[in-house]
Amino acid sequence: MNNEHFNPATNIQDMLQFDEFGGVNPSVTDSSTFTFLDPETMTETFLGHTEGCFLYSRHWNPSNKYLADAVAAMEGTQAAWVTASGMSAITCSLLQLCSSGDHIITSVATYGGTFAFLKNYLPKFNIKVSFVDITDHNSIRKEIRPETRVIYTESVTNPLLQVSDIPVLASIAREYNIILMVDNTFSPMIISPARLGADVVVYSMTKFINGKNDCVAGAICGNNDFICALSNVNNGTAMLLGPVLDPMRSSSILKNLHSLHIRMPQHGRNALYIAKGLLSLGLKVTYPGLEEHPQYELINSMLNQGFGYGGMLTLDLGSSEIANEFMRMLQMEGFGYLAVSLGYFKTLFSNSGKSTSSEVPESVQRRMGLTEGLIRFSIGLDSDIERSFMKMKECLKKLHII
Ligand code: PLP
Repeated sequence: MNNEHFNPATNIQDMLQFDEFGGVNPSVTDSSTFTFLDPETMTETFLGHTEGCFLYSRHWNPSNKYLADAVAAMEGTQAAWVTASGMSAITCSLLQLCSSGDHIITSVATYGGTFAFLKNYLPKFNIKVSFVDITDHNSIRKEIRPETRVIYTESVTNPLLQVSDIPVLASIAREYNIILMVDNTFSPMIISPARLGADVVVYSMTKFINGKNDCVAGAICGNNDFICALSNVNNGTAMLLGPVLDPMRSSSILKNLHSLHIRMPQHGRNALYIAKGLLSLGLKVTYPGLEEHPQYELINSMLNQGFGYGGMLTLDLGSSEIANEFMRMLQMEGFGYLAVSLGYFKTLFSNSGKSTSSEVPESVQRRMGLTEGLIRFSIGLDSDIERSFMKMKECLKKLHII
């Protein structure tokens, strides 16, 4: 699909969300339940026949609706639903789409929690999962069966930073009547998976979208039918499992979403600077914005101009001992925090194999190319990235890595 005229940032900017009292920030609806003037309207609302009526906040809440509408505008989808975590966005979507006996094909490289859900949890419901290298399209085709319901991937995979070819995956999915579901947590605004053919797009809003590391939240974007199905009072997975986002949080995330288009390019500029610096020192760095990245051409063909290549990069130091020493020193020198998660205004780093991908057995980690010395960095919004890189370089020198 041609993304030339699609701009996720202006889509958000163009939204005018009028508060009932004229506040420029929509007021927070601090209520779990809502009154009706007559019982008939309540019945009609339960049956899903009324527009604009709220009945109970596990179903819909005005504050959550404001945020969901803004996320849908950013993605270019008909609708969205916001959740209490990224994991609940992923698990509710998959459980909505799949029934006992169904089959999922997934990238083996995914966030560790997603991997654990697919590998350890779904078998309880007799949902089968095949794990593939998502860049190997033949291996995907080979795994397709009559029961395959979903192809699952991350636009930019965690932690290996492989780039998924969303248009090709979408055409494979369409050919076999399969749903393509994409986790776009690493690349909001940069990549718009639904515009490229994905049916369902999920986010951990805990990360770049909120950008403040003060809460956990998620989002599901899709067409009206899918979002309505999720919130159906009789059989909607989101309605019945109930991972509702607190409206206070919705309100603060919405305000942070409005600066995402400024933050993403700055994360990207800083990460590119660090990645180029590490590369020039002869180190094993992976960053989708480097020409050396195997899917550099691909990401360029998919991205929305002007938002950079994201804040995530990896550095492979060979052994976990050296990686640990380096991370300890980086934190002491004030380069950033030794912490999991990402998308924060400060730089965060951790050894993926020992933390956010520790759910993936070591043998699988090695097979997919996740080495024990791999450090994943989420580069922050530093105003003087040259100074930050000098700190990093000093640490590398002190440890005789360079
Ligand atoms: N998807 C990706 C790519 C992630 O990195 C994470 C968390 O690290 C999640 C989903 C899960 O999100 P949450 O922690 O908000 O539940």
